[in-house]
Amino acid sequence: MEDNKLSELYESVINIDKNKLVSYLKCPLCTGIFRTPFTINECMHTFCKSCIFKFFHLNPLKDYCPVCEMKLGGKPLETLIFDHSIAVLIEILFPEFEVLDKEAMVINIFLIKLKAFHDFFISKIFFNFED
Ligand SMILES: [Zn+2]
Ligand SMILES: [Zn+2]
Repeated sequence: MEDNKLSELYESVINIDKNKLVSYLKCPLCTGIFRTPFTINECMHTFCKSCIFKFFHLNPLKDYCPVCEMKLGGKPLETLIFDHSIAVLIEILFPEFEVLDKEAMVINIFLIKLKAFHDFFISKIFFNFED
């Protein structure tokens, strides 16, 4: 596809009513926008990676799609494929997701440091008491 045709396509995707598109980008398990979309190869239903992995891990006897209940032949995890096109679409529509992920990581690191400081401080107090 020519470059300008490709950019026209992106334009049309961006100009589509976001609310309408969002309804196609919602995970049926958590009802949020797909986070790392994975699609079941057999029926093409899509879920967040963590949602569908959790579904199969917590229910080892369930080897069917949680939406259409199509049987997946005993190895449901093998039917999952990363859905690159949906991931790209979400990246275009919701660039703030990446920022949120980074913020969550920074907060996690801060909490780990705080915990380490707290533990260090507590051990100091006990040490002083023993003195
Ligand atoms: Zn989900
Ligand atoms: Zn399905």
